Amino acid sequence: MNDFPIQQIRGDFPILNEQVYGKPLAYLDNGATTQKPLRMIEAVNRLHREQNASIHRSVNYLSDKMTTRYEEARSTVQKFIGAPKSSQVIFTSGTTGSINTIAFSFGEGVIEAGDEIILSTMEHHSNIVPWQMLCQRRGANLRIIPITDEGDLDMMAYRNLFTSRTRLVSVTHVSNVLGTINPVKEIVEIAHQHGVPVLIDGAQAIQHEPVNVVDLDCDFYVFSGHKIYGPTGIGVLYGKEEWLERLPPYQGGGDMIDRVTFEKTTYNELPFKFEAGTTNYAGAIGLAESLNYLTATGLDKIFSYEHFLGNYAAKKLGEIKQLRMYGTSAQKAAVFSFVLEGIHPYDTGMIIDKFGIAVRTGTHCAMPLMQRLGIEGTLRASLSFYNTTDEVDRLSDALNTVIDLLA
Ligand code: PMP
Repeated sequence: MNDFPIQQIRGDFPILNEQVYGKPLAYLDNGATTQKPLRMIEAVNRLHREQNASIHRSVNYLSDKMTTRYEEARSTVQKFIGAPKSSQVIFTSGTTGSINTIAFSFGEGVIEAGDEIILSTMEHHSNIVPWQMLCQRRGANLRIIPITDEGDLDMMAYRNLFTSRTRLVSVTHVSNVLGTINPVKEIVEIAHQHGVPVLIDGAQAIQHEPVNVVDLDCDFYVFSGHKIYGPTGIGVLYGKEEWLERLPPYQGGGDMIDRVTFEKTTYNELPFKFEAGTTNYAGAIGLAESLNYLTATGLDKIFSYEHFLGNYAAKKLGEIKQLRMYGTSAQKAAVFSFVLEGIHPYDTGMIIDKFGIAVRTGTHCAMPLMQRLGIEGTLRASLSFYNTTDEVDRLSDALNTVIDLLA
């Protein structure tokens, strides 16, 4: 991949020049959060220094400008995911915020006692607990798609989970632990054959895979700004118009109202119906700046470099005899969860941290998956397009040092 301008790209992310413990930082924890391009940092900084004003409310110059920029940010997201209308893009606090919104609104609008919601074994807690809370409120039940030993969804079992009581399927696009890229288009097709809508958790997909919500035909698609090089505290909920129109609002407050009296409140139109209170407009504008950065860099180039780097890392880590990899699907993003035989992942993580290598250790907010795998936790290296083969080599060398020290 000599044609990928990796050094120029690294220059766009100031934090990558930092040293930790006197060593150059090798940031391989992109599944947890991604680093930020200077262009986004400066846009948010400038906004606060020169342009800040509350949106949608006041008739003053700055407020008007900020409202326009906020709505432009919505259009940027709309184009990025191929949504038909910008009113189908709702800004939330993140993936968790988006899923909780639907779990509440769908629960209020649709779910009754005895109904069923299908999830999968590989879901993040954010795509489990809100549904569990809903099930407790309404007397509904969860049905779980099992996975194969390679970390693929068992699609035959999935087909067999549908009953006359199935009301929703909610699955992750890419597993944050196994890296498996799930066949979400097929998942949607099967659910729609049963007249059941599908929510896709795109938290680990949107930054690594082309996403077009019309092509996927999903009913809801959600993701977090901070995992796609944007700020924290901002996220996206895309929904099909008929669903967003039909479902009741989640939170009450400013902006989501049409008229309020003590007797009755009527609600605003989409997307504002789901955006109660002063929204995170700085976050939304920052997110749009990051998306524009990615588009300008070239998504095809980014994804194919990540693919190359993922293959390189799979080969390099595969050469370590004591390393047991979890998640070996043929359809896999550059996410590697593993343990070193006989060594606690936490000890490994602590030692390689001293070499300047940032990975994640633990259950990765996926305890049911850990139970299925029969382990307490893993180390996880998750790569981005600003990582290099040299950083992968450093990870591999550090793991070999840990083995020499502790095995
Ligand atoms: N789903 C998946 C697959 C994730 O990886 C994460 C974040 N680790 C979340 C949901 C939750 O995202 P957030 O904390 O940004 O709301």
